[in-house]
Amino acid sequence: MHTVVVPVYNEVEGIDAFHARCSDAMAAIGDPFEIVYVDDGSKDGSWLKLQRIAEADDRVRLVRFSRNFGHQLAITAGIEHAAGDTVTVIDADLQDPPEVIAEFVARWREGADVVYGVRSVRHGESWFKLASAKVFYRVMRSLSDVEMPVDAGDFRLLSRRAAEALTSMPEHHRYVRGMVAWLGFDAVEVEYVRDARVAGVTKYPLAKMMRFATDGIMAFSVRPLRLATWLGLVVSAAAFVTAIVLVIMRLTGAAVVQGWTSLSVLVLLLSGVQLMTIGALGEYIGRIYTEVRHRPLYLVRELKGFPRREA
Ligand code: UDP
Ligand code: MG
Repeated sequence: MHTVVVPVYNEVEGIDAFHARCSDAMAAIGDPFEIVYVDDGSKDGSWLKLQRIAEADDRVRLVRFSRNFGHQLAITAGIEHAAGDTVTVIDADLQDPPEVIAEFVARWREGADVVYGVRSVRHGESWFKLASAKVFYRVMRSLSDVEMPVDAGDFRLLSRRAAEALTSMPEHHRYVRGMVAWLGFDAVEVEYVRDARVAGVTKYPLAKMMRFATDGIMAFSVRPLRLATWLGLVVSAAAFVTAIVLVIMRLTGAAVVQGWTSLSVLVLLLSGVQLMTIGALGEYIGRIYTEVRHRPLYLVRELKGFPRREA
């Protein structure tokens, strides 16, 4: 059996079209399948729509969060509730074509544990999204200690054991695609063309995107901390050289009072570097704090359509 996991946040306009196309694409594979929709605290009637879909189709399972926990936790919950031998994560807006899943499944049959989609072309995105994504994936790859594929989103298939390995990782700040890379296993890529959204607007405004990017970098690299040390060293060296120059100027009787400029430049530079390094420390300490509280990752308000787990 195959499971498709779909995070849903305010997607009421497009969800019917998605369900029709996705279930056709899955039926074409020929094996039994289920579709797990995770409603991430939608406020636009998506939940009603999903319930109607579930009533008409017994291959549909629904998980409803108590509030908006975010895309990455919705994916996590979906994978945890999946019963299939393969688990494929796909967005609800039809940007990732469900027909590609057949190709994922074929690679899985050949023995891959992870099959991820790589976007060869992206339609209908702003230049800012394209440019920032391009930079982000490359920065991520150079900073991270594990091998990260570039231009790959969360559209990917996991084998049962990869899915279980992933759900055994308890961290709160989840950067799922990085965690999958960390798992290792045999991963292969499949290229596809990413379409424009069928309906609605992106649910990733700039602030959410920034949070997502910091989660990715902080979770997979301690290099920002090391950067602080290097910056400190470079600035101290510069300060040392300046000090020698200033002393020589004083001894040779140059007009020292004019040194006000260099002084203020130094003070500004140093306080900038100090704030930056304190900021980097703060980011990590904040993360340690959220992890040690040991809260559950998300809360489920309602389950529907699950064979034996009806809530
Ligand atoms: N999503 C979610 N919770 C959120 C934001 C987004 O579950 O807080 C879902 C959304 O419904 C969609 C997927 O995550 O299925 C990807 O979001 P979106 O298409 O808005 O992101 P983009 O493609 O613009 O990066
Ligand atoms: Mg999208």
